[in-house]
Amino acid sequence: MNNQAELISIGNELLSGRTLNTHGQDLGTALAAIGLQLVRDTTIPDDIPTIGSAIKEAMGRVDLVFASGGLGPTVDDITRDALGRLLERKIVLHLPTVNHLKGWYQKRGRTITDAGKRQALVLENSAVLPNSVGAAPGQRIDLSAGKTLFVLPGPPNEFNAILSEEIVPWLQDRYADARPRLVRIVHTKGIGESDIVTILEKANFQSGGIDLGFYPGGGKVEIRLVANPEKEPEILGAEQQLRDLLADFLDLE
Ligand code: ATP
Repeated sequence: MNNQAELISIGNELLSGRTLNTHGQDLGTALAAIGLQLVRDTTIPDDIPTIGSAIKEAMGRVDLVFASGGLGPTVDDITRDALGRLLERKIVLHLPTVNHLKGWYQKRGRTITDAGKRQALVLENSAVLPNSVGAAPGQRIDLSAGKTLFVLPGPPNEFNAILSEEIVPWLQDRYADARPRLVRIVHTKGIGESDIVTILEKANFQSGGIDLGFYPGGGKVEIRLVANPEKEPEILGAEQQLRDLLADFLDLE
C-alpha cells in the first residue's frame, strides 16, 4: 500500500482559464495533514477517451486516484460514462440519492426533472458518498490490488464537503499508521535565491535526503525542508546547518 494519491480535474473551463482550479490545493492540504501525499495534479478536458486514459494511467502509478467534475445533469457531464466504459461497470440509479435530490430541489421550490435525476446515476458497486451541500453525490470505487478511485463533483464547496465528511475519515481508518511528513521552515531576508545557493554550494551543504524548496517573494525567501517522519534527526540537522550558514540573513520576525 503506498501513501500516494493523484488528482484528475475534469473540465474545459479549467483549461480555458475561466475557472481557477482549486482542488489540488484543497486535496493536497487535506491529504498531507493525515500523512498521505498528493503527487500529481492533472487537468483534462471533458472528453471520454481522455478521461479514460488519464484515470487508467494514474491507477497504474498510485493506489488513490481522485477524479473531479462532470457529474452534473448537462450534456458535458460525461465523467460517469467515461468511468463506466473504462471499468466495464453498469451505471445504475441510486434510489436514496433520488430521494435526497427530490428534497434538495423541493427546498429550492423546484421539482426534479429527468435531467436532474441523472445526478443520482452511479457506477454499479460503488460506495455512494452523500453530498451534504449539493446535488450529485461522490463515489468510492474499490478496485483490484487495493486501489481506490474517488469520484467527486466539481464545485469546490461540494468537493470539500465530501472530502472532509466522507473521504478523510475513511482514509484515516485505512491508513491508520500514516504520519504527516515533517516540515521545518527557515525565513531569510536581504538575500536572493541565487546568492543563497552560492553560499550553500561553497559550504558543500548536503540536504541528506531532505526535500528542499525555495519560495521567494517580497524581498524574502522561505526555505522549506520536508522529510518523512523517521528522518527527524536529519531534518533538524539540515535546518541547523542552514541557520548557521545564513545567520546574517535570517528573518526572525
Ligand atoms: P454540477 O452538478 O454543479 O454540474 P459537476 O460535478 O458536473 O457539478 P462541473 O460541471 O465540472 O461539476 O463543474 C461545476 C462548477 O464547479 C464549474 O463551473 C466550476 O465553477 C467549478 N469547478 C469545477 N471543477 C473545479 C476545480 N477543479 N476547481 C475549482 N472549481 C471547479
